This record gives sequence, structure tokens and C-alpha cells, in this order.
Amino acid sequence: MDRRSFLRLTTASVVTPTAEFLHKLHTGEDPHRLNDSPHFADGLALPQNSASSSPWYAVMRRCGQINYNERDPLTIDAEAWGDYWASLKVDAVLLNGGGIVAFYPTQVPFHHRSQFLGTRDLFGEMVAAVKRRRIRAVARMDCNLAYEDTLKAHPEWFERSQDGSPRPHSESPWLFATCMFSTYFSEQMPAIYREISQHYPVDGFFTNGWPSTGAPHICYCENCRRLFEKLGGVPPAETDASNPLYRKYYQAHVDRVMEIWRLWDSVARERNPQSVYVGNLGGGLDTVKDLKQISQVAAWFNADHQGRSGETPIWDCQSVMQGRTITNVTGAYSNAQPNWRHVSKARAEMTLWLAQTTASGMVPWFHWLGGSPEDNRWREVGRSFFNWLAANEPNFRNRRSVAELAVLYPQRTVAFYSRPESRRPRHRGGPTDYLQGLYYALLEGRFLFDFVHEGNLDAAALQKYRALLVPNAAYLSDGQCEAIRQYVNSGGSLLATFETSRYTEWGEPRPDFQLAGVFGAHVAGEVIGPRGNSYARIEAPHPILEGFNGTALLPGAENRVPVREDFVPLVLSVVSNYPAFPPEMVYSRAPRTTEPAAIFRETGKSRIAYFAGDVDRTCWRSGNADLSQLLQSAVNWVRGPDPAISVSGPGLIETFAWETEPGYALHLLNYTNPNATHGAIRRAYPLGPQQVRFRIASGRVIKNVRALRPPASLKFQQQADFVSFELPGIADYEVIALT
Ligand SMILES: [Zn+2]
Repeated sequence: MDRRSFLRLTTASVVTPTAEFLHKLHTGEDPHRLNDSPHFADGLALPQNSASSSPWYAVMRRCGQINYNERDPLTIDAEAWGDYWASLKVDAVLLNGGGIVAFYPTQVPFHHRSQFLGTRDLFGEMVAAVKRRRIRAVARMDCNLAYEDTLKAHPEWFERSQDGSPRPHSESPWLFATCMFSTYFSEQMPAIYREISQHYPVDGFFTNGWPSTGAPHICYCENCRRLFEKLGGVPPAETDASNPLYRKYYQAHVDRVMEIWRLWDSVARERNPQSVYVGNLGGGLDTVKDLKQISQVAAWFNADHQGRSGETPIWDCQSVMQGRTITNVTGAYSNAQPNWRHVSKARAEMTLWLAQTTASGMVPWFHWLGGSPEDNRWREVGRSFFNWLAANEPNFRNRRSVAELAVLYPQRTVAFYSRPESRRPRHRGGPTDYLQGLYYALLEGRFLFDFVHEGNLDAAALQKYRALLVPNAAYLSDGQCEAIRQYVNSGGSLLATFETSRYTEWGEPRPDFQLAGVFGAHVAGEVIGPRGNSYARIEAPHPILEGFNGTALLPGAENRVPVREDFVPLVLSVVSNYPAFPPEMVYSRAPRTTEPAAIFRETGKSRIAYFAGDVDRTCWRSGNADLSQLLQSAVNWVRGPDPAISVSGPGLIETFAWETEPGYALHLLNYTNPNATHGAIRRAYPLGPQQVRFRIASGRVIKNVRALRPPASLKFQQQADFVSFELPGIADYEVIALT
């Protein structure tokens, strides 16, 4: 899981195409050579890339989607769309095939043809238009909804509420939700895919809105009732991990997702082995379904995180998947709350989202909705960004991240953990608050980090990092804890907060932290909180506390686990909360305690910082500068001196650094903006000079340091393994190529 978009859901290494294949791509030996005819014989297989074992989607760098509607066959100009996508130099375009609405003359029963299709074969025209321009075509499908005539003919295909009624769509109530445990998924959708594969030379299938990454919802159809009988009960009302039946359902749900995914992928490949099925995994850092398990069936992982709304911070676009093609969708339309489907979002927000996708190692997928737009402002935003990407493509072929810090992505905690005061909604007051608080502090401290999914916790995944940072991974399995213990025993450093390892992966409380020996701390009572107006007292000097001159007190966490410590000097003690009102009552009744607020210890080469309170979440909720500084100092201390990469200068920026095919690339994203944590960014505020120090592989000589946006050579110095230079400024996004 390299950072970004799940998802930034990740910090993992992205699939790296073979150099040979890419070389061919760029020397005119075109592995995407396609049939030039606008008409395709049934079952025509595309010439495949015989020179490389990498499938086409593994070397794809740019992707587009036009999501047309039922009425569009009346007006849409397929050739004009072909020209537009060609002007973006995309490798692939997603085109609406069918599912809810068929955009071609389907013969599959109950596959609803667009009522405006007339004699057109819009899908066929669109596929031909992009293929003529040597662009791959992926059929975009929707498996989630169908019409009432289908409901009458096949009642068994549909989801049911508890009273047995079908579930109409809230905005389009003439459509009804289909059930993924039914044969609609195992028979009807494959029949449609096969029909499309037979008649059109598609390179893959994509389903909108499935499987998504949200919590599985409960269906009461006959199929699902039988499923629950097998699991040993009736469908539960609460999707809560403390319910043993729900746990079984969660796994059955993931198993069914993987079964359907495998089936659809095999159907996609029947006529064309290089074809692929790709599902839709929407969401941001807050994902419920197990990405690690899904990643095992997904050759191409799409993060459908098209933009942000409300309090979602600008850095939410991240990926956590390992070793897969990862795309992330940028919606060009204004998908805030409220939502506008047919006008562009601000150029600055759109560009930064595309930039973040790219910086984090994902492939940008640019999306517009509606085949005959009346707002065309978005077109140039995508075109200029994609053309810039294409012109600099070698520098975006990443081999590996060179970050020294790993942030644990605590999947089960995000999915299931909730303290009473921290129930969803997402973003503030939800289970990702811990992660977001740490993330913000890491940005302020200008740390480079990767995400490591908890499912990937092992010695091999961790050994390249100097420290592992764990934002309240309350739910961890014995095996995951053992991996962390081994990492620390072999010299790795650790920062962890609050209830980390307090519960099993299913939320069963343990009598003590599973990592008590690593933390040097033991659970001494139940969680106390939420309580404002509590403090941490500085009891003894420590490098982490060096920046706090002039105060004996620091803000305390809103929640804490009372702990006792193992033979470690008390550095920060807890001052319990006391009344904040009225002012006459505002004084501590117990100003000195021996209860540790944090434990900082060294063992062998490892440094360990454990915070008994939810300092990360409290920092995120309060915006408190001291808590951010405390986290930054702790990260600095656990990592140790002499970072591999440092960028100093004004502003809030996010930094990614990659070893690339030609050398290295340093990506800098300018988040210095009043709309960084409440979208959308309306304009960029440029930053001044930044001093960069970048460690390269031993013995390597750098000949050129170039800024790519806009192009400029930079003066630099190399001393041993460090390259130093000054970057004159950052507008919104800058990439420096070291070659
Ligand atoms: Zn069902």
C-alpha cells in the first residue's frame, strides 16, 4: 500500500511495467496496434502485446471516461468524443455498455434498451471511435439496478426489505436494487458481458457502484435468508462487528464479492485473454471492506474517489494497494454536497486531485458525465494535465517509493471500531480521525511516508522503513502484533497511540495490549473520556519535548487508556480533567499524578513512543498546534536524524519521492490553502523557495535536476549520496526529476 487513494488508502508499490515494454511504447513499436476498421467482425480479437508479459492495463498511464445517459443517443457525437479523448493521449476510455440501460441493440432478455436508442448502436459507435484512435475501450456497466418488468419476471434477482418489499432507488424510484447473492450477478450479468464481448472488441469490463468499499448492507431476499440460515441465524439489524453473526456475514459478503469478481474476470477473458474485469471501490480513507482480500482478485484496482465534500481534507486521495494497477477517478463535475453533475468543479481543485493521484503513484482517470455537455470548461483542465503527463511520462514510471516511514492503515479498526462518541459520519467524529490527525501532523512536519495495509504487515514489508507509525489500530490480530514485535526486535522503531492492539481483529477485548511488552505499558483500567480540559504535565526533559519551552502543561487527549509502565522514567504525566466553567471552578484538584500520558523508550536500536491518549484524533478534532508538534517531535525522534529526503521552506505541502526508471522524482503538492480541509480549493496560493536535500543510491551520479511544471533546469550540488538544490517555488504541484 503506497499512499494514495483508497484510497491513499495505501502505500504500496505500484505495478511497474517492464522497461522493455515501455521502451516499445515510446519508440513507435506500438503494442496497442489496433484494427483500423471502424467495423468489427464478431469476436475479433485485438492484436496482443506479444513482446511483454505485462497486460495492457499494467502499463496504462492515463485513462478517461464519458458516462452518457439514456437520452444521449439522440444527440451525442461519437467522433467528437473520440477526438477529445485522443487529444488527452489516454490509453483507455470507459464507455457505457449496459446493465441498467443498454446502449446497443441487445438481445439479452430483460436488458433494457435505451428508449432513445432508435436505430443507433451508440456503444458500438463509441467503441469504434476510440479504437480508430488507438485507444483501448472498456465497457462500463451497472449491475445494481433494473426495471420493474424485470422485477415482475425475476423477483428472485432483487433485494428485499424486511417486509419483503423491493428496494426502489431513492431518486429514480422506477429502478429497483438487485441482490448480489442472486443469479442476476452470476447469470444475467455474464450473459450481457458475453453478448458485448461477442459483438465488440472491448478490452475489459467495469461495473459502476459495485462492490464499493462501504459497509455491507443487509438484504432479506430468499437467497439472503438462506445464506443467514447457513451462517446460523437471521439477518441482524446492526452492522456491528461485536455481533458474531454479522462477522460471519461480513466474511460471507467478502467471499461472494471475490467469487463474483473471479467469475466476471473469467467471462471477460473468454474471448480475449488480455481483457480484464475491474470493480468499483469508492470511498476515501474510510473503507469497510477488506482491501487486502479484494486485492487478491483485482488485477486492476480502481479507487472511485472522484472528489471530496464537506470536511474531507484535500489529501484524502490516496492509495493503499500493493502490486496492482491502481486508477483513481477524478470527477470533472462538481461533486460536492450539494452535488452538481453538469457543471465543472474549480480548475484548482480538479488539477490538485489529478496531481495527487499522480504523485501518489496511481493512474489518473478523468471523468465527465453526460454526452452533450453545456459546460465545457473542464475539457482543457484534463487536456493540459494529461498532455503534460504524456510529455514527461518516463518520470512517472515509478519503481518504488523511497519513503522511510510507514503508516499502518488499520483496516479493521476503520471498518468496525467505534467509541460511543465517535460513530460515523465520516471524516470528523469517525474512525478515521486518528489517521487524519496523524496525517495532518506528518504534512506539517514534512515527513514522507507510505501506507502499509494491516493485511500486509510482515517483516519483508516493514524492513525498508526506519519507523512504523500506528494511529490507534485498536483491532489487530495476534499475527499482526507479532509482525510488529519482530520488526521492533530487529531494530525498527514504533509510534503507536491509544488502544492499539487492545482488541483482536474482531473486536474481542484482550486483558492487556497485545503489544504491552513493546510499548512498555499495561492497561490499568477502562478508557476514560471523552473529557475536555485535561492535560499532560512535563515531568522530565526528553528530546520529544524540547520544543515546549515556557510551559509545564500540554493539552491532554480527549480519551485515554489508564496505563501503568514498566520501569520507564515518567516524562509526561496525566492531569485529569477538571471543570472548564465557571472560571472560579477552573483549577486542578490533582495537579500531580504518576499516571503516564506517554511512554518513550529505547531498546537496542529501536525507539518507541506510545501515547496512552488519542492525541492523533484529539489533534484532528481540535486543530491544536501543540498536539501536532508533539506528534511531529515524536515522529522525528522515532525516525532518528538525517532523513533521506528533506524539503524545507514555507507552506503546507505533501511530498512523495519515487525511484523512477530514469532516476528519481520528487512530487510536491501545495496544500497551503484556506480550503485544504473544507473543499473545494478555488485557487492556488503559490509558495516561495524550498530547500531540498535528497539521498540517492550509493555510488549513483546525478547529471540533471529539472523542474517539470513548468520545465526548468535547477542548479544542484552532489556531495557523496546527497543531492541538494533550491526550488524557486511551487504553484500548485511540482515534480522534480533527478536523472
Ligand atoms: Zn438478497
